Amino acid sequence: MKAVLIIADGMADRPVKELGWKTPLEFARKPSLNHIAETGICGILDPIAPGIPPGSDTATLALLGYDAPKIYSGRGALEALGSNVKILPGDVALRCNFATVSQNQAVLDRRAGRIENKDSQKLAESLSKVKLKTSDARFLFKSTIQHRAVLVLRGSRLSAKVSDSDPGITGEKVMEAKPLDGSPEAKLTAKIVNTLMHEFHKNLTSHTINEERIKRGLPPANMVLCRGAGTLPNVKSLVHIYGIKAACVAATPLVKGVCKAVGMKAINVPGATGTLQTDYLAKARATSQALRSSNFVLLHVKATDVASHDGKVRQKVEAIEKLDDILSYFIDHIDLNSVYLAVTADHTTSSATGNHEGDPVPIAITGPQVRRDSVKEYDERSCAGGGLHRIRGMDLMPILMNLLGKTSKFGA
Ligand SMILES: [Zn+2]
Repeated sequence: MKAVLIIADGMADRPVKELGWKTPLEFARKPSLNHIAETGICGILDPIAPGIPPGSDTATLALLGYDAPKIYSGRGALEALGSNVKILPGDVALRCNFATVSQNQAVLDRRAGRIENKDSQKLAESLSKVKLKTSDARFLFKSTIQHRAVLVLRGSRLSAKVSDSDPGITGEKVMEAKPLDGSPEAKLTAKIVNTLMHEFHKNLTSHTINEERIKRGLPPANMVLCRGAGTLPNVKSLVHIYGIKAACVAATPLVKGVCKAVGMKAINVPGATGTLQTDYLAKARATSQALRSSNFVLLHVKATDVASHDGKVRQKVEAIEKLDDILSYFIDHIDLNSVYLAVTADHTTSSATGNHEGDPVPIAITGPQVRRDSVKEYDERSCAGGGLHRIRGMDLMPILMNLLGKTSKFGA
């Protein structure tokens, strides 16, 4: 027996006025999602706990069976790992955004107009040549997707206890990184981050790529904002816990990083971009191919979350309908007598607020031995009436692994 876990990022939502007070899931045409609900067992799931808005990293860790609040050690290191940046124990990694700031350092656009990869990569190459005038640390800077990048600090006296330089809100001023405890390590790390931010800003302001962007009427990427300093989490791998071979098909570095941190193989799929234009069919094919050599494959789709953050309800509906095409591919190409399919979201992202919210998400599992319930449609409200009732994110993996015969008895 094998299993595929499909995670649609931020797919769950709240009722939307524009859709006649339906959620995007309720509104979308989704025969395959409904088929999975109808032939399976459904429920709702609190990724972390009721009312707690999770990050994609903590939620994915929880959906892989880990007690996220206990083991989470920051997003930056996971993002670095997922971006194929070599990260060592002790390294401090920060998540960065290319952003647009005004002359007095107020943030005008936290994503520099969702800068294209070709521009952000060239800028990152240039920044990686900046000289850091200290012997206390070395740094690596790498762009990942669009405005996203990773900064890794390597040295023997560093700490992840530093605050963000990213104010997180448009209109606010760029902040200084501050030590979050009294240790000399945190103080030194904050100083290094601030020095680098200053040098990066100088380099970017006069960069030809930005001069060209201004000419083309695009916001210049003249600042790097940092947040989420972290180190690698100290966890046992899925192989160690369940004795399974596990792989993931994902485009976003963060999810790839989470998967790699728990010992999963991250499969690179050409055409998988993490955007609305991602090659859905290529991801579906890669997943069913990975299933040949793995017991468990996680397929992650990002587009649903991107549309929600941008408040684009119709695009979210479209992304859900494209996800449905992946599922119809699975229904046609995977032997469902020996494979379980589970579909969920890592969190609710409200198209109205543009934020991750603490509402539960739908979950449906279909496969040979599930106790089928009477739910016929896959959405937030319908699944709430299903046989799984309300579970926690970290309950899902034991449920799936039990179906696969990979759990051991508790007691005699
Ligand atoms: Zn997410």
